[in-house]
Amino acid sequence: MTITIGVLALQGAFLEHLNLLKRAAGQLKSQGFEDTFDFTEVRNVQQLERCDALIIPGGESTTMSLVAAQSGLLEPLREFVKYANPGSNHGIWNGKTDLFAFRVDRKPTWGTCAGLILLSESANATKKGGQDLIGGLDVRVNRNHFGRQVESFQAGLDLPFLNPKDSPSNEPFPGIFIRAPVVEKILPNLDGIQEGERAKAETVVAPSKPAKDDQAQRARSSHVDIMGVLPGRLKKAAGMGAEVNADEEAGDIIAVKQGNVFGTSFHPELTPDIRIHVWWLKQVSEAVATKTATC
Ligand code: GLN
Repeated sequence: MTITIGVLALQGAFLEHLNLLKRAAGQLKSQGFEDTFDFTEVRNVQQLERCDALIIPGGESTTMSLVAAQSGLLEPLREFVKYANPGSNHGIWNGKTDLFAFRVDRKPTWGTCAGLILLSESANATKKGGQDLIGGLDVRVNRNHFGRQVESFQAGLDLPFLNPKDSPSNEPFPGIFIRAPVVEKILPNLDGIQEGERAKAETVVAPSKPAKDDQAQRARSSHVDIMGVLPGRLKKAAGMGAEVNADEEAGDIIAVKQGNVFGTSFHPELTPDIRIHVWWLKQVSEAVATKTATC
């Protein structure tokens, strides 16, 4: 099967993502992976409609949302991320309880840095007047959490979801943080707007519509998985030999996944490391296969 992956190309590091996607697809092909991938820049609704999955790159979320609004892309993006394919969700017996765990088959979307901000249901530290969010992840992000551009940094990340098979050495992932957000709160799974968030000062929320139907409601009901944490200052100090008790320190959440929607605070696209792109393409392939099997 050929899977079409779009990269939102309104602003920011979209070319870098495309480069890594092509390299990741090359690696999968050489390993005999069955699906093939087609990559495309997305600047309008017609291009978005062709896509099975989407990446929203790092850059400047305020600019991106402004250009998306001007291009008439904001609502179609919300449809893509949050309400795709009514009618194709399906229940899976989870074997343990008397509940069905509903798989989410919104179209797979990955946001990096500014992309994560746009995919959040709530963002604080926004400029006056705010910015439009797409939403899809029930989280609140704190923009520019680590400070300004000059406070950018790189940190070796331990990301448990990366399969060691994709990287024989399983080195820490080079996390590049540039005016990066962190997930400061996991929000309740709500159908519609995060009203509690809307009441907060200097916070913007995604104008999520109430679920259109039963299917859309199920699509919103999967929980948020924490996929990566940046150890805090105490853990760093302990790692350098300081005598501090870092056991209770939680660290900053820098990667999350809710159903098919994935977000990272950092910029894998600005490194030569293709591991996360390889992992994500496999996730997309699985999601598309599940959808096709149940349509
Ligand atoms: N702080 C930027 C924003 O608010 C994101 C920075 C980035 O993507 N490197 O959009």
